[in-house]
Amino acid sequence: MTVLRCPTCQRQFDSQRSDARPFCSDRCRLIDLGRWLGEEIGVPLEPEDRGPEPPPRVTPPRPDS
Ligand SMILES: [Zn+2]
Repeated sequence: MTVLRCPTCQRQFDSQRSDARPFCSDRCRLIDLGRWLGEEIGVPLEPEDRGPEPPPRVTPPRPDS
C-alpha cells in the first residue's frame, strides 16, 4: 500500500484505492485541472499557422470633403 497526499485537498489516501492518481478522487482531479487552466491559460494561445499580419486597412478619402 502506498500512501499519497492529494495535491488538491491535502488529504492522505491509499493510492491503490484511487483511480484518479495522484489525486484522491476524480473530483479533486477536476478541481486541480480547472484551477490550472484558469491560472496558466490567461494568455491566449497563438496557433503556429497564424499566417502573416493582415495589411493595414486604408481608409479611402472622402469625396465630399
Ligand atoms: Zn483530494
